[in-house]
This record gives sequence, structure tokens and C-alpha cells, in this order.
Amino acid sequence: MVKKTPVLIIGAGPYGLSLGHFLHARQTPFLLVGKTMELWRNHTFDSMKLRSDYATSILHDPYRRYSFERFARVWGTSLHRWRGRLPVTVFRQYIDWCERQFPFRPEEQYVMSLQQAGPRFRARLQNGDEVVADRVVVATGIAHHLHLPPELSVHPRVIHSYHSTSIQALQNCRVLVVGAGQSAAESLAVLQNQGNQVEWYARTPPVFYSEPLNLPKPLFDLILRLPGMLHRLPPRWVHTGLNRFSATTITPDFRTALTGMKRHTLCPPVNDFDVVVAATGYRYRLEDQSYLHSSLRRKIRTYSGLPLVNQYFASSVPGLHFLGAMTEPFFGPSMKFMIGSGYAARVLSHALA
Ligand SMILES: Cc1cc2nc3c(=O)[nH]c(=O)nc-3n(C[C@H](O)[C@H](O)[C@H](O)COP(=O)(O)OP(=O)(O)OC[C@H]3O[C@@H](n4cnc5c(N)ncnc54)[C@H](O)[C@@H]3O)c2cc1C
Repeated sequence: MVKKTPVLIIGAGPYGLSLGHFLHARQTPFLLVGKTMELWRNHTFDSMKLRSDYATSILHDPYRRYSFERFARVWGTSLHRWRGRLPVTVFRQYIDWCERQFPFRPEEQYVMSLQQAGPRFRARLQNGDEVVADRVVVATGIAHHLHLPPELSVHPRVIHSYHSTSIQALQNCRVLVVGAGQSAAESLAVLQNQGNQVEWYARTPPVFYSEPLNLPKPLFDLILRLPGMLHRLPPRWVHTGLNRFSATTITPDFRTALTGMKRHTLCPPVNDFDVVVAATGYRYRLEDQSYLHSSLRRKIRTYSGLPLVNQYFASSVPGLHFLGAMTEPFFGPSMKFMIGSGYAARVLSHALA
């Protein structure tokens, strides 16, 4: 079957869904393809707590129908309950509650290929359907960007921390967890609770801090709130400034558990372990978006391997837009978190209407 749409949104995470709501409010027709909140439903530990507070961990829509205030009212509970870090189990209930109110339905599948077809785009979906779109928004988040250092990939059983379900299933194994950030800390805790024999390899000592970047909180909050202003600066400044003044951190609630734990500062022989868990983060590069046809990828101008986007998230290929973490060098770190999705959806829906 061939479907035609003015706008194809690829990705049903916070960025794709928020954009969908803003386009719906403007009565701009669109088709959204992706698995609804897949990261949050299938790729986070059940014991995890969010780092962002509930007020900045929402799906955005112009009518504010998905606020935590409303969610709390409907659930007959007080917002006070979620003042600390929000358990992911509650956040998943919030997602279910939002989804029941969506005024549109995402197509719960993947785009397998995307290429240009004259002035339009042609996408092939998992079920064999084709979509012809005038404009395309890529909002595929982190799934294509798992970073795996080559020295680990020699092991026959390496699991990236993104695959949390596989990690949660491990029992009675000898496991090496690699990484110095929050995902490493969460993996270590989960694995230990399940009776595994766990060792930790992190070259640098852990930095315990509530925010995901080791910047003074008022400065971090300000940077999160000013994506439009950051876009006016040369990307080199944003990129270098953030790299220079920030570091990977772990929330202080893991301090006690991790302080007594033996940490390797040089990689131990990986084959001494049954499993290696690579909590080694994400590396964003356009070339990892494997479903983008090479002829299309080649036409996209890049900065540091990422698609260069203007203030409306438009790439150098007319009609092709990017949202989310891939735009961090241009709009700053808010694009890596849910807090940035409201700004992005507002600006881009205006440009697409
Ligand atoms: C462990 C972990 C903890 C985090 N904690 C926080 C936190 O506390 N607060 C916070 O704000 N952020 C947090 N983040 C960052 C998180 O990435 C963002 O909050 C947010 O989920 C990014 O939204 P997104 O829409 O860009 O991408 P994602 O949420 O990654 O969604 C991507 C979407 O794209 C779809 N997709 C992928 N490939 C295709 C394809 N080929 N075709 C169609 N669809 C496709 C997926 O199905 C999914 O729907 C965390 C990230 C991780 C990994």
C-alpha cells in the first residue's frame, strides 16, 4: 500500500509525539511512524528513577493536557508524592495515561528506508507499506547511536546498557560493567540485586551530582531553557564550551553502594567474564542513521558528523528536518532531554504549517 502525507514524522518518543500534538492543533496533516515511548517502556531499568523532575518530563501539547498536575488529579494523588526523583514505573503509568488521550495514533513500526523521490521523499515501512511525503522529520532519538568501544566488542557476549531487559534477566553470571555514568551505576545495582558477581571498570572516578552534566545547577537550568539563543552562537562555541566545563555524573543516591566497590582503572581481561555490560553511552553521527539511503545522506551538510540545521531544525536538504539529540551542537543540551521537546515542537510546527 502507498500512503501520501504532507509530513512524515519518524520517531514516537517525546520529540516526535510533541511535534505531532502541535501539528494536530494547527490542523496540519501528518503521519507518525515509530514505537510509542519505546525508550521509556522497553529500554530503562524497572528500578530506575528519572533525573529530570516531573515538571520537565512531560509530553508537550499546546493545550497542556499532559501536565503532571492533571495526571495527579486524575490519579487522586498529590503532586507532593513526586517531589523527589520520579520512579520510571510512575512515568510509564503517566505515558499510558497520555496515550489514552492522544488525538492521533502513531503507526507502531519502523521506517526501514528513506530516500528522495523528485521533490518528495519515499519511505518503506517494516510491514512493506510505502509512504510518500512532502516533508520528513527525523526524531529517532538514541536507538541508532549506541557507543561500543572496540576493545569490548571482542567479547562474545556484550550487552549495551540500552538493552536493559537483557541485563535485568542476568542471574548468577560473572559480569563486568564498563562506564562511569548513571547507566553504569544503575546496571551495577540491578546486577548485584540479582545475585551476579559484578566488577566495575571505569577509567575515571565517579562524580556524584544531581544533574546529568557537572555544571552549577543555575547555569545548567539556564542553558536548558535557552535553545533559541544558543542557536545564534557558532556551534563550535556551544560544543567546546560544554565539553570543557561539564562531566558525566552519577546521582548521589548511588554514593554508598559504589564507594565500597572495587573499580578497575585499566580494562581487565574481558574474557574472564561471562558477560560484559557496556554502559558506554551514545555517540551521535548521521552515518549511523542506517535507514537513510546513502544518496540522501551524502546530500546532507554536516558539522562534526551531525546534520547542520537552521533555527527551524531544517537540514540542507529542502523538506528534511532533524530533532532531538542530533541537534545538540546547535541548540545545546536541552535537545538531549525531554525539556527541549516543547521548544522544538513549537518552532518546527510553525515552520511546517
Ligand atoms: C537510561 C536513560 C535515562 C534517561 N533519563 C532521562 C531523564 O531522566 N530525563 C530526560 O529528560 N531525559 C532522559 N534521557 C534522555 C532521553 O533520551 C530523552 O528524554 C528522550 O527520550 C529523547 O526523546 P526522543 O524523542 O529524541 O527519542 P527516544 O525517546 O529515543 O525515541 C525515539 C523514537 O524513535 C523511534 N525510532 C527509532 N528508529 C526508528 C525507525 N527507523 N523508524 C521509526 N521509528 C524509529 C523509536 O521507536 C522511538 O519511538 C535518558 C536517556 C537514557 C538512555
